[in-house]
Amino acid sequence: MYISREDKEFLIQELSVELHAKLDGGRKNLIVPVCPYCGHTGGKFGIYVGPETAKKKLFMGHCFSCGHTTTDVNQLLDDIGRSDLRIEETASFGPVAVPQFFTLDEDEIDDELNIVEMPEGWKRCYKNPYLKSRGFSFDDYEFFPVGTTRGLNFKFDDYVVFPIIDNGDIVGYISRHTWDKQRIDEYNTQARLNGKYEIRRYNNSGCKEGENDFVKLLYNYDAIVEDETDTVIICEGVFDVIALTRKLDLYENHRIAAVATFGKKISDAQIYKLQAKGVRTVIIGYDGDAVGSINAAAQKLNEYFDTYIAFIEDPTQDFDSMDFWDIYDVFSTNLKTPIEYGLNVVQL
Ligand SMILES: [Zn+2]
Repeated sequence: MYISREDKEFLIQELSVELHAKLDGGRKNLIVPVCPYCGHTGGKFGIYVGPETAKKKLFMGHCFSCGHTTTDVNQLLDDIGRSDLRIEETASFGPVAVPQFFTLDEDEIDDELNIVEMPEGWKRCYKNPYLKSRGFSFDDYEFFPVGTTRGLNFKFDDYVVFPIIDNGDIVGYISRHTWDKQRIDEYNTQARLNGKYEIRRYNNSGCKEGENDFVKLLYNYDAIVEDETDTVIICEGVFDVIALTRKLDLYENHRIAAVATFGKKISDAQIYKLQAKGVRTVIIGYDGDAVGSINAAAQKLNEYFDTYIAFIEDPTQDFDSMDFWDIYDVFSTNLKTPIEYGLNVVQL
């Protein structure tokens, strides 16, 4: 059954009042203090209000005491004596109608995410010499949590570690060594000679059992506000997202958000995540040297969104290295459609 976003919000409100229910920490479930089926107290009855998945339907209810499950919202409403709130099948199609989900086979997309532990000793910081050298501002620390393991975990000495947050949950992390490439290379040459461990520039989650594959994640996903954010700029990495947000002052801008795909590729799962929040327009902001990858991503995205490419003429530049006016120029005069990009850039 299709439930419009207005209906969803309204029903959450009504159910909260009717059943004295409260949203849980992740805002994915309404916790009902007294089960309407068995009367058991202690918040054993939950109603799912998170994003729909193959297994989880909106407003499905389950009691962990009596085991009663309802999968149909109207059944639940009848059962609690609020048939007046029943969702009519046809009346709830808004002008936007159903998003383009049907173009992707929902069952094939596994978007279930596990919660991931940050490295031992990790603590958020609001000051860091390395991040300062990369232009971090007060707002950046506020909006983009980052921390270190403060010398308590040798595997992460000299790394800055950014949690990847999805619907309020930590679902991964990006860990970047604070030395520059040259210093790491020099160190590793010595380390190889002496049989010591080499330093990796990145030391990310995803290696341990139960940690999510990065193809299922988007950095800064929660900055996309469902049905408010129309346009998403797709970057390669964490530092691109933060630099772009800072330089274009997007912190509080709910119309436009920047996210990262952790490389120059976009997966079906990532596309689905953007669709699920009602995004309509995407701008690919991958580094200028990535012509082939940009073209491939553009073809793929163009099936689902109005797609543009932020064409950065200088292939050595990216959002992190460009200043406000360079970036402004790209967005004001150098947005290309996939066809224009194909004709003008790919064939150069
Ligand atoms: Zn029960």
